[in-house]
Amino acid sequence: SEMYEKARDKIARFINSETEEIIFTHGATESLNLIANSLSEELKENDIVLLSEMEHHANLVPWQIIAKKKKLNLKFIPVDNEGNLIIDEELFKNVKIVSVAHVSNALGTLNDIKNIEELTHKSNALFILDAAQSIGHIEIDVKEINCDFMAFSGHKMLGPTGIGILYGKKELLENLEPFIYGGDMIKEVSLHDSEWNDIPWKFEAGTPNISGAIGLGKAVDYLNKIGINNIMKYEEELTNYLIGKLSKIENIKIYNPKERTGIVSFNLKNIHSHDVAELLGKEEICVRAGHHCCMPLMKKLKINGTVRVSLSLYNDQKDINKLIESLNEIKDKFD
Ligand code: PLP
Repeated sequence: SEMYEKARDKIARFINSETEEIIFTHGATESLNLIANSLSEELKENDIVLLSEMEHHANLVPWQIIAKKKKLNLKFIPVDNEGNLIIDEELFKNVKIVSVAHVSNALGTLNDIKNIEELTHKSNALFILDAAQSIGHIEIDVKEINCDFMAFSGHKMLGPTGIGILYGKKELLENLEPFIYGGDMIKEVSLHDSEWNDIPWKFEAGTPNISGAIGLGKAVDYLNKIGINNIMKYEEELTNYLIGKLSKIENIKIYNPKERTGIVSFNLKNIHSHDVAELLGKEEICVRAGHHCCMPLMKKLKINGTVRVSLSLYNDQKDINKLIESLNEIKDKFD
């Protein structure tokens, strides 16, 4: 228990929150389901929830289900052809909740969340940030971002799978209904009634993933040792190197949002992304291909998928050179 709570403390310091604002979940998906369901208690027919067209299914499907049950109005911030959000203040009028990705897992877009946060709070709405793809790659300070809730997963920040975080502002969490019942989330139970535990335990029903939480604490130690600013700078240099090299390949479509991270998506003309990924895999180059759990985004871009390179601090220029060499070989093979 001591190690579990110490891990909570480390994660809180990593994102500049209070310790009791950190809820352990099984991952970003559970965090987003939890917050969507708990907040839905307070939503009424025709209330507007604003998402974006680039959301991962984990930040879309829970809202669709709740919207159907509660007859909510789901609206979407549109995306342009390069993967930039088109932010229009009009969209934020009368919204109750805004929930968007910090970084697009499909295209690497780094969204202007300061602008989104300001417009959200101007409408007195709640701002939920899906930080699954930004955590561990760029500095995250929840006080500076001023998000009301934030979700992320351990395995995307060098931690174990099956552990994740929901951050919430203390005063909001205290007034929020839990979503899963039983186990440690109670203080007092009688046959017909129960009293909830304090935050954060109110939201942690059942035996938690203790080892996962401790492992995530260790990942935070490791990231801190290297320094998030060093990671940011290194990944930025590597991304520029990758884009420079990719751009020289003929008949390639690279998705180039204005602000980006080390997630780079592209397609080789007339070659399916799954074929590219399969052949790269044979060379021990691991990329992801397909719709990246963003089917509506792919539909908007009129494609069935992309090849996605996700750079991290463990990659170097040699990896990129090998990738480029293999992509050229794949092109030759298909030609
Ligand atoms: N949100 C984004 C932006 C993601 O990229 C992912 C996973 O890829 C998720 C949410 C869901 O994370 P998990 O599968 O770890 O629950």
